[in-house]
Amino acid sequence: MPYVITDACVKDYLCVDSCATYAIHPGKDEAGTEEVSQLFINPEECIDCGTCITTCESNAIFPMDELPPEKADFAAKNAAHFGL
Ligand code: SF4
Repeated sequence: MPYVITDACVKDYLCVDSCATYAIHPGKDEAGTEEVSQLFINPEECIDCGTCITTCESNAIFPMDELPPEKADFAAKNAAHFGL
């Protein structure tokens, strides 16, 4: 069950550096990072370790099955960023 970033994301990139599988994009130096309002987790690259939750200071990241109801659409939004 992959993890999901929600609109509480402040793009501080702490999670990007914490992810062992480089599942979080766009990184600080990636193309398009200025255009997005938040970062996203690639559900096909996430190994469900939970490390990013501990590094996120804005509490923007949730396991997909623990998303608050009002944030449920962010699972699809994260996947859609990667064309999934
Ligand atoms: S749960 Fe682990 S693998 Fe998945 S995005 Fe967070 S740090 Fe990366």
